[in-house]
Amino acid sequence: MADCGGLMEPIRIEYNSKKGYQIVHRCLTCGHIGRNIVLRDVAVQPDDEGAIFHLMRHPKA
Ligand SMILES: [Zn+2]
Repeated sequence: MADCGGLMEPIRIEYNSKKGYQIVHRCLTCGHIGRNIVLRDVAVQPDDEGAIFHLMRHPKA
């Protein structure tokens, strides 16, 4: 369940033609998969941006 309180690990980036890029997270406790839309309008720290591109090239799952 999304509200089990487990840590959510980003595992890959997906591209949705309507919503744009989404970060796919997996709960380390129960395996629940969640998606967060990458909000390009919001200022992104360079480190975070680098992590996103890294995930795009090297998905974990
Ligand atoms: Zn969970």
